[in-house]
Amino acid sequence: MRGRFAPSPSGRMHLGNVYSALLSYLSAKKQGGEWILRIEDLDRQRCKKEYSAQLLDDLLWLGLKWDNFSPEKGGLAPEFFQSNRDSFYISAFNSLCEKGLVYDCFCRRADLLSASAPHASDGSPIYSGKCKSLSENERNLLLKTRSPAKRLMVEDKSISFIDGHFGAQKSNLPRDVGDFIIRRSDGNFAYQLAVVVDDALMGVSEIVRGRDLLSSVGAQLYLYGKLSLIPPDSFPEFYHLPLLLSCDGRRLSKRDKDIDMGFLRDNFSAVDLIGKILFLSGCIEKEEKISLEEAVGEFDWKKVKKEDIFVA
Ligand code: GLU
Repeated sequence: MRGRFAPSPSGRMHLGNVYSALLSYLSAKKQGGEWILRIEDLDRQRCKKEYSAQLLDDLLWLGLKWDNFSPEKGGLAPEFFQSNRDSFYISAFNSLCEKGLVYDCFCRRADLLSASAPHASDGSPIYSGKCKSLSENERNLLLKTRSPAKRLMVEDKSISFIDGHFGAQKSNLPRDVGDFIIRRSDGNFAYQLAVVVDDALMGVSEIVRGRDLLSSVGAQLYLYGKLSLIPPDSFPEFYHLPLLLSCDGRRLSKRDKDIDMGFLRDNFSAVDLIGKILFLSGCIEKEEKISLEEAVGEFDWKKVKKEDIFVA
């Protein structure tokens, strides 16, 4: 059994990030499994080296040592950074192109957002498929002035799966997902493609993360099927977590300075913070200091809350 934490280093981690890190760790360790770290730094503009270094340091401060820890490589070997994994994404991308499943999309972000298209449950517009029907001539004309994004065509079918925490789910590909981007117009690979390639190649069997990504599972399972990197009986299991919300109902964000790891490390000890997160999640009844070993004992998916959690 292998779990993972796959953060994007676009700022200092905050309480919401360490909550996902800790619960994915506890779930893996409770089963005697491994827990690996992968840095999702595909977005070269937003992700910075110093944020990754800080992230590793913050996890170690909390006691969350990843099983792919390599001291001689600064804690994490280069192959666990998505920015170094283009060769894997290129071959996956090429295999989808060879199957005739990929097309060029010239639509601009602003056009997509303003179109009165149906929206997915996460609020992102479902793509209308407009560029799929471009003629060869129209396409060639557009190629002269613009580089296209690459979209994966979805089939007209539904994908059913069991979320370990939220139960039976069903995602209708054209209605809930739509043809989705696997490579951006700047050439960078998109999250959906990279996450599937990496989880498959890294032997990840359990994915624990915030429920904001529950709506991505349909697209990801579709990709697992199309890429054939691993057989269907070894597709990972998914467990989604309720979100942490600030008292005004917003999702915690990297802008909330009072819950960033700098503030938390100045004001809490690691055992205090583990206790706080475990209490917020519903795994213990009162907020108290708790060691990581004790936390493994206390952790139980049955105790984890289903509703989003307000952080006072
Ligand atoms: N890198 C993503 C994030 O930080 C998480 C991806 C995942 O867990 O699948 O939001």
